[in-house]
Amino acid sequence: MKLSHFLMPTLKEVPSEADTRAHSLMLRAGLIRRLTAGVHSFLPLGWRVMKNIERIIREEQNRFDCQEINMPVLNPRELWEESNRWTDFGDVLFRLKDRRGRDLCLGPTHEEVITDLARSFITSYRELPQTWYQIQTKFRDEARPRAGVIRGRQFTMMDAYSFDYSQEGLDKSYENQRIIYERIYNRCGLEYSLVGASSGLMGGTGSQEFMQLTPDGEDTVITCEKCGYAANSEVAQSRLNQVSEVVENPHEPEDVHTPDKKTIAAVSEFLGVRPMDLMKSVLVMADDKPVLALIRGDLEVNETKLMTAIGAEYRAMEPHEIVEMAGADAGFIGPIGWKTKPWIIVDESIVEGASYISGANKNDYHIKNIVPGRDFSMKTVKDIRVVKDGEGCPNCDSKIKISRAVELGHIFKLGTKYSKAMGAKYTDSEGADNPLIMGCYGIGLERIMSGAVDTHADDFGIIWPATIAPFDFIIISLMQTESSIMETAKNIYEKLKGLGKDVLWDNREYNPGVKFKDADLIGIPIHLVIGKNFLKDGLVEIKIRKTGERRKIKPKVAIEELMKIHHELINELNDSADQVK
Ligand code: ATP
Ligand code: MG
Repeated sequence: MKLSHFLMPTLKEVPSEADTRAHSLMLRAGLIRRLTAGVHSFLPLGWRVMKNIERIIREEQNRFDCQEINMPVLNPRELWEESNRWTDFGDVLFRLKDRRGRDLCLGPTHEEVITDLARSFITSYRELPQTWYQIQTKFRDEARPRAGVIRGRQFTMMDAYSFDYSQEGLDKSYENQRIIYERIYNRCGLEYSLVGASSGLMGGTGSQEFMQLTPDGEDTVITCEKCGYAANSEVAQSRLNQVSEVVENPHEPEDVHTPDKKTIAAVSEFLGVRPMDLMKSVLVMADDKPVLALIRGDLEVNETKLMTAIGAEYRAMEPHEIVEMAGADAGFIGPIGWKTKPWIIVDESIVEGASYISGANKNDYHIKNIVPGRDFSMKTVKDIRVVKDGEGCPNCDSKIKISRAVELGHIFKLGTKYSKAMGAKYTDSEGADNPLIMGCYGIGLERIMSGAVDTHADDFGIIWPATIAPFDFIIISLMQTESSIMETAKNIYEKLKGLGKDVLWDNREYNPGVKFKDADLIGIPIHLVIGKNFLKDGLVEIKIRKTGERRKIKPKVAIEELMKIHHELINELNDSADQVK
């Protein structure tokens, strides 16, 4: 491709819409263009990268005999009613009506459609296992689209689904996908951690996420350097540095006047006690039933953990609802003194037999000497706590570390949730019908692309891993009027193309500075410069973008040298995939 007629709108300045470094580089290198919130066009350079990622994913899935299919984006409501997700998906689901007024949605994921295929075509255990995948556009009306393509409302996902007849079968299919995912990320030059993840409300028997640790991530990952413990904060555990003590002969609960003291900080200061001597009460509504979450005063409730503990989505209560139910404002509620008791979920930080202060369900009053187990029920004790940096590792004597991360992919043992709900069965060796045992697995292609930019960049621009780079080589001919330079450039350009390589030839009549800057910014792995050196000594110069190394060589050995370097760059990445166990 000649750059003079190529769509590559590079930018010098950081665009104002960019909210991360990778996003800025993707805009500056002319990879993407925003159309509206969370919706982007891919320009030629960006689309070439996407196609390369797609090819790698396809090769790795096919290597394990997974079968590529393609499912429709447009889905009928009835199918989503069968799994109850027409309701459960809430506002994230893009909904529309056809000309006859029938409801449809744009697929945010494809468990329903795949389960429908499975129930139509799989009959016997003899046909199992099978794994089907697709690379398809997904639609999700995300609350906060951000960072360019990282959280889009329209994005590309490779989603795979496995079908087995035994738990061991599922374990194997899942393990295969874990290997496939690691191979894909290694080949794309990404660094990642595999962490334990929340199964959310999807049920299932286990799930893990591939996380790229980066300060620009929205997720939080907990790791222990000593023992290798790694988990998403939505499920991560830790040991508290301080634990409440059991009191020998506790006093009876007693009201204390705390006028206008509505926060943990205000109450603890007013009463001269530590925040950890208080209990924090969080009142929420799940399926029209009130739930009171109780946690030690110095700690916070993790929303996902609470949702998992409740087993349903919940919402915060309006101030007037709290007053109606508890008889007091949010700052004065606690576990005792209810007319109608809510379901109390107690965090593990609250110790049975210790003594705490909490709201009295009466404005301007708290109660002291509240003893869990004695004064309120400890029937539901769960870990609903936000884990903090520097707390103890749950598995060893070391301390945990908290990092920001972007979720690159998610592998999930679904079990029989969808097959049961939708009647997808197989016949076993005894002739009995059983629900299919399923797994689902998803990779975001845009997140691979932006993750690669995040990891591989310097002050001058992107440094593409050779496997996914938009072009293998860029030829930079300086002085377009010098016919010997142009002849040499053309010759090498044609030969490389003839060898099946992707080559960009910067034949623009710009000054060298502009051309070098653009070449660095767009990050093509190998540059070939034909300019003054050539005129003076008959030499062309190769630059390897990653290391900055330069080699001056004769044009007649250029092809051989370029191919060799390219081969090495590719092999390095592919070899790392072969290390995956
Ligand atoms: P997140 O927690 O980031 O919202 P998710 O848990 O909803 O993601 P999954 O449903 O597990 O995501 O989807 C599988 C993969 O698809 C994710 O690991 C991610 O790589 C990608 N993905 C999900 N949502 C988006 C999005 N809005 N934009 C781009 N990629 C996405
Ligand atoms: Mg996920």
